[in-house]
Amino acid sequence: MSSADPGITTSVDVAGTTSGPRDILVSEIFSAIQGEAALVGERQIFVRLTGCNIRCTYCDQPEALERRPGPCRIEATAGRRDWQTESSPLAIDLVVDAVSRLWEQVPHHSISLTGGEPLLQGSRVEKLAAAFASQGWPVMLETNGTLVQPLRKIGSDLAYISMDLKLRSVDGETVAPTTQSRFLAAALDTGATTWVKIVISGETDLDEFDAGVAQVAAASSASAVGIEIFLQPLTPFATATSAPSPAQVLDLHERALRIHPRVRVVPQTHKAIGQL
Ligand code: SF4
Repeated sequence: MSSADPGITTSVDVAGTTSGPRDILVSEIFSAIQGEAALVGERQIFVRLTGCNIRCTYCDQPEALERRPGPCRIEATAGRRDWQTESSPLAIDLVVDAVSRLWEQVPHHSISLTGGEPLLQGSRVEKLAAAFASQGWPVMLETNGTLVQPLRKIGSDLAYISMDLKLRSVDGETVAPTTQSRFLAAALDTGATTWVKIVISGETDLDEFDAGVAQVAAASSASAVGIEIFLQPLTPFATATSAPSPAQVLDLHERALRIHPRVRVVPQTHKAIGQL
């Protein structure tokens, strides 16, 4: 995994929208209901950053994977999907203004800094999180749990960290367990409320699953606050069609509970209710 923070070079201009430098690659900003894990059901403003360092088979954000300039859609009215289009990268000030406008229209619980993989933008995402925190907005980082150094820099501005634990049998990716362990330890060091999400499918390898849960259990027992695990049954998307059966979900939940006491099953509720 790379923790590089290469410069964003572009001649794109966003006339009349901001006077600041164009800092950060963003693909969309909108208000919605969080559909996953610990903050399920909470109203959040989603700031989706562009670019990811891995490629999961089930990824439902293929347009956000390549780290390059392009269009960014920004909701004008919270929850109305009345999009305005800007050219990304955007100035940090422009992102803060867009979030501020949505937050003034509807009270929100927090901001979801999501992607893609937000930490891929290194110092730029650090500036963005600091700008959000300076406004008093709680920030939740949704991350694939692979880029440890950028996390250390952004950590003090985060209220929540939702970290994915990747299973090769489900994601088709090879993310080193040692990297994810180091990330989890760094996440706990930030003091942000941290939980782990594990996507499960009909192809989940049981040994790999048990090892992943044990890895979280070990980090949790070494921490004063502990870590909750959320098992998220795969929602079929594109070529990823192998959702776990009801019996598999029960079995995986049971296996996890035998290893770690705090495990919940939460499917992607935003998809069940037709939200973004
Ligand atoms: S880490 Fe997230 S954004 Fe990146 S490919 Fe996997 S699911 Fe998609």
